[in-house]
Amino acid sequence: MLMSASFNDDQMNNLIADLQILIRQPSISATGEGLEQCAILLTNMMNSAGIKSELLYLDIEDQIGNKITNQISPVVFGEIKSKSNPDARTIMFYNHYDVQPVDPIEKWNDDPFSGKVIDNLIYGRGSSDDKGELITRLKAVEFFLQKTGDVPCNIKFLVEGEEEIGSPNLFKYVQKFKQKLDSDLVIWESGYVDKSNRAIISLGQKGILNTEIKVNGPSRDIHSSMAVAIENPAWKLVNLLSLLYDSREGKILIDGWADETRPLKEKELQILADEPFNEEAFKKDYGIGNFINNQSPYEVKKSLATAPSCNISGIVSGYTKKGVKTILPSTASVKLDFRLVPDMNPKVQFDKLVNFLRKKGFKEEDVSVKYLSGEPAYRTPLDNQYVKLIVDSASKIFDGVVLNISSSGTGPMYVFKELLNVDSICIGSTILPNRMHSPNEFTDLRLLNKGTNCFIEIIKNFSYYRKNIQKK
Ligand SMILES: [Zn+2]
Repeated sequence: MLMSASFNDDQMNNLIADLQILIRQPSISATGEGLEQCAILLTNMMNSAGIKSELLYLDIEDQIGNKITNQISPVVFGEIKSKSNPDARTIMFYNHYDVQPVDPIEKWNDDPFSGKVIDNLIYGRGSSDDKGELITRLKAVEFFLQKTGDVPCNIKFLVEGEEEIGSPNLFKYVQKFKQKLDSDLVIWESGYVDKSNRAIISLGQKGILNTEIKVNGPSRDIHSSMAVAIENPAWKLVNLLSLLYDSREGKILIDGWADETRPLKEKELQILADEPFNEEAFKKDYGIGNFINNQSPYEVKKSLATAPSCNISGIVSGYTKKGVKTILPSTASVKLDFRLVPDMNPKVQFDKLVNFLRKKGFKEEDVSVKYLSGEPAYRTPLDNQYVKLIVDSASKIFDGVVLNISSSGTGPMYVFKELLNVDSICIGSTILPNRMHSPNEFTDLRLLNKGTNCFIEIIKNFSYYRKNIQKK
């Protein structure tokens, strides 16, 4: 089945209409609004395109044995097998139908769920993240079905409804429906296009460990004249934090913190060197004068992709409002997030943190350390056979391709590797800044067109791989 990728005006209008239907259905995972309705709507949309679709549920009970299945958003599963190429391998699209809340609502120029088109932009919550990305994958599959009544390779969809709240049940879903979800390559829910119209193909995501440390002092807030005799928990916390991280050198000081990290290979270093990086624009965008430890642009790129971090995301103690209140506070607490790199396990890292603090003399009764959440990192190896396929396909559609060994952010890529032994690649049509998670979120229809053509190309090229050849 050979045909050139070309998505015509009628097909584009149909894409816009369907994307508007999806945007107009609110689906906010933080509040639960409209999730099941959106899942049903999507299932119907997939079924009418010819993709066999169903809702998947988890059987979950609460601590006293009541079923709480309906409190968890369903996963939309879609599948279409190739009739003409039954020995083809399976490509799986991972996306999400949930969106972020809309507040502050007064900052929106229109109804947040309007789906309004102005020039080449379409507006609304989810237009970019992730309904716009999802529609490009659906329409690429529909393109083949309309033209030939078939698809050139086997295709699956896993569209979850909890991505924006950290995918708390994705692992359980993939575990329960392992057989159903078996595949050879996962295409990630989004991917970026830079200002020069180059596709950024990212192969990894960092992991994360979220913790909370609380220091207990006197039994109540007391008169600050007592500071000569009673230790202030805020000072104790400040001293503790300075033992964890040297913020001038950007160095994590916890014993053995990065013991598990692996050195980068020659080829990975080369990719980092080749990656474009506009130092001035970056600094201007964030309003900063210099980087930690005066890192060079190359070192910054390397840190973003491969360095673990120790970050204070919030710190609270004592009186911070207007005027003066001379107290010695009774408690001080901090939330720390640690970005992790491959081979680091969040639970093991947490134990390292606790052991380090106990060794430094911070006793359990005074300093509590809590594990909030965590997930490991994953990086698809550069020599994964599909990397070239994706690069070649994207090169035909975009004005160039930039490979990135890992994003600086976190996502559940490891779930697919751990449970299905399958690698993931990020490619898509998201341009920055598109006000993702902010008021007036939009996406560029010209890029959705390119994205759809890119997936048509990917599906076509993926069909040359047959089942009998060894996976990966
Ligand atoms: Zn998002």
